[in-house]
Amino acid sequence: MPSQSVSTPRADILVIDDTPENLNLLSAMLTEQGYKVRSVTKGSTGLRGATAAPPDLILLDINMPGMNGYEVCEHLKANERTREIPVIFISALGDVLDKVKGFGVGGVDYVTKPFQVEEVLARIENHLTIRRLQKQLQTQNEQLQQEIRSRQLAEERFAKAFRSSPNPIAIATLEEGRFIDVNPSFLRFCGYSLEEVIGHTATELDLPSSSQTLADTIKKFQETGSLHNQEVEFRTKTGELKTILLSIEFIDIANVQCTLLIANDITERKRLENEFISLVSHELRTPLTSIMGALDILGAGKLGTMSEQAQKVLSIATSNTERLIRLVNDILDLERMKSSKIVMHKMKCNAADIMVDATEAMQALADNSQVQLVVNSLNVELWADSDRLLQTLTNLISNAIKFSEMGDTVWISAEVIEDTGTHGYGETGNPLSTSNSLLITVRDQGRGIPEDKLQTIFERFQQVDASDSRKKGGTGLGLAICRNIVQQHNGRIWAESTIGEGSTFYVLLPLPSS
Ligand code: ADP
Repeated sequence: MPSQSVSTPRADILVIDDTPENLNLLSAMLTEQGYKVRSVTKGSTGLRGATAAPPDLILLDINMPGMNGYEVCEHLKANERTREIPVIFISALGDVLDKVKGFGVGGVDYVTKPFQVEEVLARIENHLTIRRLQKQLQTQNEQLQQEIRSRQLAEERFAKAFRSSPNPIAIATLEEGRFIDVNPSFLRFCGYSLEEVIGHTATELDLPSSSQTLADTIKKFQETGSLHNQEVEFRTKTGELKTILLSIEFIDIANVQCTLLIANDITERKRLENEFISLVSHELRTPLTSIMGALDILGAGKLGTMSEQAQKVLSIATSNTERLIRLVNDILDLERMKSSKIVMHKMKCNAADIMVDATEAMQALADNSQVQLVVNSLNVELWADSDRLLQTLTNLISNAIKFSEMGDTVWISAEVIEDTGTHGYGETGNPLSTSNSLLITVRDQGRGIPEDKLQTIFERFQQVDASDSRKKGGTGLGLAICRNIVQQHNGRIWAESTIGEGSTFYVLLPLPSS
């Protein structure tokens, strides 16, 4: 078995020289240095040997009988297999013309007879190093070419998917949100031309249906680093409102951080869904009114007295019918608000009055649940639909009571804060320009809301627990209605919460300037 100490030769060198003394001298010198040496005395033999097993370097005598060194070199350079082998000529001392010709036919260097051992070795080592580096460079180059080809292929595939996707897709810069590329579906979807879109932001094009939509979407994306199928409304160039499921991902384009936005247009699906809900609700209303009337007659004892058990059954039927009527009314209310069939009757009103009225309306429910209501009202003038704001506050307070424990407290307070412009209103609808905002807060000590539900609870029929509305007598529509009302006042509504410690709901409304 070969021992570990047997090392592989430093390189394979072919020496072609017709003078046996030269051959012997060079072979001995190179072998001693650890090179593998093949030596031949004829040019034609050398050529065959080099073609059969290409060496790492060739030492080639110029003056040989038959085929001389130049001819051998020309043959080597003409052959694909031997072209790259560095050839060092062995020339007679002072033969300047020979050397020039040697370079001309493709030699890389020369050594002169008589040999200077160190010089010959240094030149050989130099050219072997250059050849090694060349080979390395070639390999790296090939790898690079391969990588470029696969990238081009991937890019082509991405470009094809991007261009032909039926989904509207856009790429925008992360920092400013300026569109840098959009696909044809995106242009068809929003109605703008490519020139109108590129270089502009969604806000500049007036795409978000409301600034709250945009603020909420950006906030959610920043918090999680990506967004999947978030339902948002967008406005097209012609002003038509469209509902989409929006997904956003980070992508890096030429070292610029960008966002990839993919939309799924569900406008038609939503329209059919709304139509269905509204149709069903309308159809339910008439029989429900009639059932309620019948139950009232029974309850009033006009058809004879009932046993205690019958009265219990009647009371269950009445409370469930009332819940169903509330649900139908809420669905219709929300549907009308969304389709702008309900307009806000805005007028000057006082925040303190609304807060006190809402608290008084909820006092009985609080007493029943043994929850204390603490109101810190603020005497501030608002430009609002007071009935709708009352509806919003009573909803928030009733939720706070519902999800509190016996003995807990619910605080209702308000403060004026400076409008920093980050809350995203200042849209049309308020005839008075604003600079400050009113922040109404409803805080409880209840069970709290998980982080991932803090935004979805404002969508219709979204609850923390699927049984919440049944157990607590709600409809799952209250917060969706609240959000709609607040948005129609160019305000914002959101919630913060800590599980087990309680929740705080915020309503931010623009104030008329004094
Ligand atoms: P509901 O009629 O079910 O109360 P809402 O739209 O008003 O409908 O509320 C949606 C859901 O949000 C509730 O079912 C509940 O899961 C959660 N929620 C709302 N307010 C609170 C609160 N103060 N504390 C805990 N959970 C709440």
